[in-house]
Amino acid sequence: MIEPFIDEDKSLACVHCGLCLSACPTYLETGNENDSPRGRIYLMRALQSGRLPMEATTIGHIDRCLGCRACESACPSGVEYGHLLEHTRDHIEHHHRRGWFQTLLRRIAIEQVFPFPRRLKLALFFGRLMNRRPFIWFAPRMAREALELVPEHSPESRTPKQNPASAQPASGQVGFIEGCVMQVMFARTNEATVQLLNQDGWDVHCPEGQACCGALYAHSGQLAKARACARRNIAAFESQNLTAIIINAAGCGSTLKEYGQLLADDPEWAERATAFSAKVKDLTEWISEETGNGNQKLECKVTYHDACHLAHPQGITLEPRALVRAMAGEHFVELNEADVCCGSAGSYNLTEPEMAARLQQRKIKNILATGADIVVTTNPGCLLQIQAGLKKANPKIRVMHIADFLTTSHAE
Ligand code: SF4
Ligand code: SF4
Repeated sequence: MIEPFIDEDKSLACVHCGLCLSACPTYLETGNENDSPRGRIYLMRALQSGRLPMEATTIGHIDRCLGCRACESACPSGVEYGHLLEHTRDHIEHHHRRGWFQTLLRRIAIEQVFPFPRRLKLALFFGRLMNRRPFIWFAPRMAREALELVPEHSPESRTPKQNPASAQPASGQVGFIEGCVMQVMFARTNEATVQLLNQDGWDVHCPEGQACCGALYAHSGQLAKARACARRNIAAFESQNLTAIIINAAGCGSTLKEYGQLLADDPEWAERATAFSAKVKDLTEWISEETGNGNQKLECKVTYHDACHLAHPQGITLEPRALVRAMAGEHFVELNEADVCCGSAGSYNLTEPEMAARLQQRKIKNILATGADIVVTTNPGCLLQIQAGLKKANPKIRVMHIADFLTTSHAE
């Protein structure tokens, strides 16, 4: 008898209507029902009931899911697909033995590196070294693809603990989550984010003791580790008197907003988690359209790529567009399939490189068709994935985080 790992009622909410199929990037690419949301829900139920054994082909279809949650936006029955997926993956990781390569990649290279800024810095150092000749000639194909994602430079600087508003008295105090990848690879973007918040009238606190948001663990079947991250962040922020807690990475934001669900069964933390999540805001839903260099004249074409975890679980699509349009005006051009995943999906481009590359190509093709000079987005994974694709297709096109776009002078 298999111990239930998904909520039966939540899985039965799927009425197999198929309205989510055309929103699912993996189904769009393969046309295989098992790579679709309803197909995967069927597989999850079959695994739970024991009708299907825990074997590689079935697990491959679950692994191939990006966790982008585009299916949730499309679903008229309100199926909580993300919740079903996280719990299924948690069950798989604790009851299925993967091959040595995937185990090494997931347990060591990803889980023991990305959430730890010092280790990530060290990994980037070696990554840049490997990216040089002659080392790159000897790297296996898969490693070469992963190395393409390593940015050439990532200037270092930590966000100060206290950052007063540009004009005093301030409107209030907000917290800022630095993010593991953001603070190591996109420190300038974090500076720009604080600058925007200060310009908008907010004192910004970046408290000690904050940790990885836990998204990487939640998405890869390590829910206990994700919960531990959540408890650390709640403890770090709840003692401050904050109006909001701001995040500039879409993937982290959706997990932070779901701490209430993540810790729902923990009597000591459930209420505190819900209170924490209620304060979490993405940068783009918090700052006003007048913030940034909105009065400068932009002569180049700009498009916007929706990070999945901002567009789908958080439902934020209008606010970032309004901010970009405020600067780009008539030079803004809409991107076809803007909310279809670029293939980054956290560490997906490392664990599922083939599908990630297909989706990257699809995204790049759509970007090239816009004729844009700048692509704006809101998540570090998308920035790296799109940058790597454009480096080959058209290196002149710039990919920018929205905070950088709003604070950079584009007059040159
Ligand atoms: S997940 Fe929702 S949209 Fe997709 S088949 Fe099920 S009920 Fe229909
Ligand atoms: S999360 Fe994304 S990839 Fe996975 S089933 Fe839903 S739409 Fe498809």
